[in-house]
Amino acid sequence: MATYKLLLLPGDGIGPEVMAGVETVLGALAETGLARFETETDRVGGAAIDAHGTPLSDATLARAEAADAILLGAVGGPKWNGVAYDIRPEAGLLRLRKELGLFANLRPAICHPALADASALKRELVEGLDIIIVRELTGGVYFGAPKEITTLPDGAKRAVDTQVYTTGEIERIAHVAFDLARKRSGRVASAEKHNVMKSGVLWKEVVTRVHAQHYADVELEHVLADNCAMQLVRRPKQFDVLVTDNLFGDILSDVAAMLTGSLGMLPSASLGALDGRGTRKALYEPVHGSAPDIAGRDAANPIAMIGSLAMCLRYSFGLGEAADLVESAVTATLAGGARTADIASPGTEAVGTGAMAGLIAADLRARAA
Ligand code: NAD
Repeated sequence: MATYKLLLLPGDGIGPEVMAGVETVLGALAETGLARFETETDRVGGAAIDAHGTPLSDATLARAEAADAILLGAVGGPKWNGVAYDIRPEAGLLRLRKELGLFANLRPAICHPALADASALKRELVEGLDIIIVRELTGGVYFGAPKEITTLPDGAKRAVDTQVYTTGEIERIAHVAFDLARKRSGRVASAEKHNVMKSGVLWKEVVTRVHAQHYADVELEHVLADNCAMQLVRRPKQFDVLVTDNLFGDILSDVAAMLTGSLGMLPSASLGALDGRGTRKALYEPVHGSAPDIAGRDAANPIAMIGSLAMCLRYSFGLGEAADLVESAVTATLAGGARTADIASPGTEAVGTGAMAGLIAADLRARAA
């Protein structure tokens, strides 16, 4: 049995609590004999600012570069609201994504039948929903230059962010989306705003060409990003793989989050380019933040974090059977009625973070026995 090197970066707020849930599940997985992991734990975000004065130290970055995959909890919180912009907790995460070249962010939105009533939409619209948003993560308006606030001669201020995309950046994310679609239902929707943005014109052009040259067997649809937001709440099951840029992906994936009932349910993967050995740098993290409002109370839902582990098993290590086992254990635990507070119906009893992870690990052990 191969041993995989995992770097755990719990981060801040509920990060350490949900990461403890992952360690519980890793323990159960090791017992099944399907996979064994060597884990190392380090600091990121506010925890790293407190320890080293920077949200990502060079030593931690070096560990991240050496790991087979990284699991990250969440960063940030009110304690660090006053720190300089360049060393705020989120800057640690952005640096990690940038330095490791993690350009493809995969965010599945799956609605477990047991949770369909927790969605903001009607059960029939979301039950059985299984879509995946492929968001470009290292380009676009969050990184483009100039990015500044200047003072005009009349004393007014002027703020500029720059949306930039190059052919290569669009091509590589398009390949990720089309390759993924081939393993799913064979459908891709590409969202941009070519009607008002030059970057949208190029995006549509490049995605169309990559499709025609390499993926004639996959169905491609172009959708304007604003219409896409509307369609996601009108009839979400019409989509399967949805590829889009950094900004639109940020927003559309949060819309998709609410379709599933809770932010606490949504995992994500951030992948780099394939290297010569056929492997990629990869970071797996829940979509949610550090949830300071519930931190330290054993009230967080660990499923987004545990789902991120399942994605890690599937995408970094090709351990499909182990990933299926983790996902089936989550589905069965929910079907059995266990609920953390965020997904519990009013008046019903909720279990804590540790108990939920323990139930999932127990189901996994029983399933593998
Ligand atoms: P958040 O995702 O932390 O919380 C939003 C709401 O969802 C809160 O009410 C929270 O209690 C709830 N929630 C989130 N995760 C949950 C879980 N696992 N179980 C149960 N409930 C959960 O977003 P926010 O409040 O806007 O941000 C809080 C902090 O997190 C900020 O400092 C923000 O910058 C940071 N943040 C970090 C990341 C990241 O690390 N990737 C992402 C988003 C926000």
